[in-house]
Amino acid sequence: MSQQNLEALDVESIREEFPILEREFDGQQVVYLDNAATTQTPDAVVDAMSDYYRESNANVHRGIHHLSQEASILYEEAHDRVAEFINADGREEIIFTKNTTESENLLAYSWGLNELEPGDRVVLTEMEHHASLVTWQQIAHQTGADVEYIRVDDTGRLDMDHARELIDDDAAIVSAVHVSNTLGTVNPVSELTDLAHEHGALSFIDGAQAVPNRPVDVEEIDADFYAFSGHKMAGPTGIGVLYGKQELLEELQPYLYGGGMIRKVTFEDSTWGDLPWKFEPGTPPIAEAVGLHAAIDWLEDIGMDRIRAHEEELAAYAYDRLEAEGDVEIYGPEGGPDRGGLVSFNIDGVHAHDLASIMNDHTVAVRAGDHCTQPLHDKLGVAASTRASFYVYNTREEVDKMVAALDDARQLFS
Ligand code: PLP
Repeated sequence: MSQQNLEALDVESIREEFPILEREFDGQQVVYLDNAATTQTPDAVVDAMSDYYRESNANVHRGIHHLSQEASILYEEAHDRVAEFINADGREEIIFTKNTTESENLLAYSWGLNELEPGDRVVLTEMEHHASLVTWQQIAHQTGADVEYIRVDDTGRLDMDHARELIDDDAAIVSAVHVSNTLGTVNPVSELTDLAHEHGALSFIDGAQAVPNRPVDVEEIDADFYAFSGHKMAGPTGIGVLYGKQELLEELQPYLYGGGMIRKVTFEDSTWGDLPWKFEPGTPPIAEAVGLHAAIDWLEDIGMDRIRAHEEELAAYAYDRLEAEGDVEIYGPEGGPDRGGLVSFNIDGVHAHDLASIMNDHTVAVRAGDHCTQPLHDKLGVAASTRASFYVYNTREEVDKMVAALDDARQLFS
């Protein structure tokens, strides 16, 4: 089905599943446009987690008693559901972590610290989130590897000629964000992965802003590793995912050690259990896994293609409305297939924090700051920007309310 023919979302009935969207502050209903930071959680997810605590709560790893058996099955099935959702080969390829950041650290410590050598190149992009940028920087400091950044051009897209220059036989890994949390740019991650593989390098894709709002097929992308967070996709906080190709995960050294991940322990040494448990020591996020499972069911009931279309439409609308204001600088590509569901901007003469604060006076929740992309903001020549980010329950009217608040900011600050 082409995107044009997709049935529009029934946003009104979707909103009924989010009581938090009814909240009022100073008599005004909240307009929640901070979804790139954390999305709201539908009743279906909250109910699944509270049912779990009411009826099935126990520790996992297949204890002998009924409740532990049940909790283990729920926890294992959540891995299966995630695998199906992103088209991985099976639960062996799905490691539950705390969030995208921990997934990045897991790979950087397990693989990077053990495998990188002086002269190796870690290829990032200038639009990486600190979760990957800081992590690889630190691992490079410790191993003597170099970090190089694929340039972002004036339109907010990656300079693919520069990518081809940097991804040569010295490249050991290419780590790229799928959808930029600041520019909104949708990056050509399959092309980057192909380039990495042509030169014998690994590819890692940060999908924190992609999995929540578009269909993601890890087999099609062919990424070796792919990460995302539950709390940005209608799921709970406290759970993230690291997908990895099974043959690569088999080779990796664990990152964290403890109970639940071992096969045999003696006073002298230990061996590791099967995937994915080898990377999930200690008591894992069981209720959160149940919640993530429910979130995926909920998202797929709506349809990931329709969610993408809704977000693209809102982002394009917000882009056009802001551009028409004349004094707003918008970062990243114009609305369309190259932009995910967020818009970062600045207005002449008003600091992003002041703008966000005025928006808050109108109960419009946006984010101001560097969005964990400080070097990118340095490149853009600004310390901060204001970011509006959308999800399935947002409407054009909410975008209008945000744009209307700009007038107050102008009056107060100019
Ligand atoms: N990567 C990107 C692109 C993000 O937008 C974020 C969060 O904003 C992260 C990584 C880190 O996610 P988390 O805080 O869930 O670890």
